[in-house]
Amino acid sequence: MTEKIKQAYDPNSFRKYGHELIDLISDHLEHASQQSIPVNEWQEPNEQLAYWENYSFDQKSPTPFFKDILKKSIHVHHPNYIGHQVVPTAPLSALAHLLSGVLNNGMAIYEMGAAATAIEKVVVNLLLKKVGMGTEGDGVLTSGGTLANLTALLSARQNKLETDTWTTGITQQLGVMVSSEAHYCVDRAVRIMGLGEKGIVKIPVDNQFRMRTDLLQECYDKATAAGIKIIAVVGSAPSTSTGMYDDLSAIAAFCETKNLWFHVDGSHGGAAVFSEKYKHLMAGAAQADSVVIDGHKMLMTPGIMTFLLYKNKSASYATFNQKAQYLWSKTEEGEQWYNYAKRTFECTKEMMSIKFYVLWKMYGEEVFSDFVDDLYDKGSAFAKMIEDRAGYELAVPPDSNIVCFRHVKPGLTKAQLNDWNSEIRTRLLQQGEFYIVQTMLGEEVWLRVTIMSVHTTVETFENLLDGIG
Ligand SMILES: *Cc1c(COP(=O)(O)O)cnc(C)c1O
Repeated sequence: MTEKIKQAYDPNSFRKYGHELIDLISDHLEHASQQSIPVNEWQEPNEQLAYWENYSFDQKSPTPFFKDILKKSIHVHHPNYIGHQVVPTAPLSALAHLLSGVLNNGMAIYEMGAAATAIEKVVVNLLLKKVGMGTEGDGVLTSGGTLANLTALLSARQNKLETDTWTTGITQQLGVMVSSEAHYCVDRAVRIMGLGEKGIVKIPVDNQFRMRTDLLQECYDKATAAGIKIIAVVGSAPSTSTGMYDDLSAIAAFCETKNLWFHVDGSHGGAAVFSEKYKHLMAGAAQADSVVIDGHKMLMTPGIMTFLLYKNKSASYATFNQKAQYLWSKTEEGEQWYNYAKRTFECTKEMMSIKFYVLWKMYGEEVFSDFVDDLYDKGSAFAKMIEDRAGYELAVPPDSNIVCFRHVKPGLTKAQLNDWNSEIRTRLLQQGEFYIVQTMLGEEVWLRVTIMSVHTTVETFENLLDGIG
């Protein structure tokens, strides 16, 4: 063994650097929550690149490097981080993440991750129960809502056609119906599946940005007349831009009459099933064929970890109906819950289950319901504040912790108003005091806030609005 290899695997230096890093992170969490550091230090991409290209790494210790990473990264635990839907990790979950990183169990087959494999089934069962998907269900953990949505649509294709697409390829124009406000990854999934532009049948939204379920029949007929065989409808729970939930019960009823696959993209807000106060938003999801819920959005885990739940377990086995002889021995053909690679896109994947399990067992289910309640309540509170303030406009009273609003200056044209709100967003980004984002609703630019931190308060919102107006 060379000296370098010996160093790289030395448990004692790991112990030393590890303790230093945990101290560093704990201090960081304190500073971020108390706002004694900025939410973000803006740098142009090329400046950032130059910094790291010329970075002098001191080989005596990695700790200064970790410090610099902390300094030069966006701080999602900061109360003024109210931008994209990435959760301030519950730190205990990040310890499980670290353990996964070191153990590096491959997870594709049972013996390459025995504990995390069994725990995966335990946590999937909890989520099935919370969604109300019945006893015939099953599910997997996979790497992100984007991949989970693609996987669910592959399941839809394999389960709703008489032909075996996995073997024959696509022999007819297929289509998926989805609201025009759905996350872009649904559109991308459909195109990856080879269905092209025609394959995505967009359903318009109402003035609350929910899918117009009253138009499902008409859109279905139109697509069918154009030679498109609809296989699935995707409900957004909620959609990304505005955080509004589609009427899942109405979509379920439509899918039932037409024998379509009903998929719920609950990447962001599926976690509402934990909340007594907000679980009504997920009504109808129990009838879905598949449901996606991200851990790293509203279930407090580090990225990346996503639940993909199925009403019928056999449907999940049909998705990748392919033999990998070197992984499975003859006796292992068929449905085995414990060989996850049969049902996931990934071969190697992280030990995701332990990141959720540790939070659930340490703090109970209440921690998830408290979290959803806290953040969704703050969404309403912020919306109310905007309605009460002169010079501001609210896009829609929010269902969730996503709120879209604009600053309106009298006398501006539509285009000028768009530019003005874009300028506000850019100014905030560059100042680094707040992190918010923007979105397009129709032709209009709106400022968009997602309240992800329990440390965000009414005062945070007041400071934000004072700083803008
Ligand atoms: C965030 C989000 C996604 C994408 O999920 P990732 O985990 O980021 O891949 C998909 N759909 C909706 C509705 C989302 O909010």
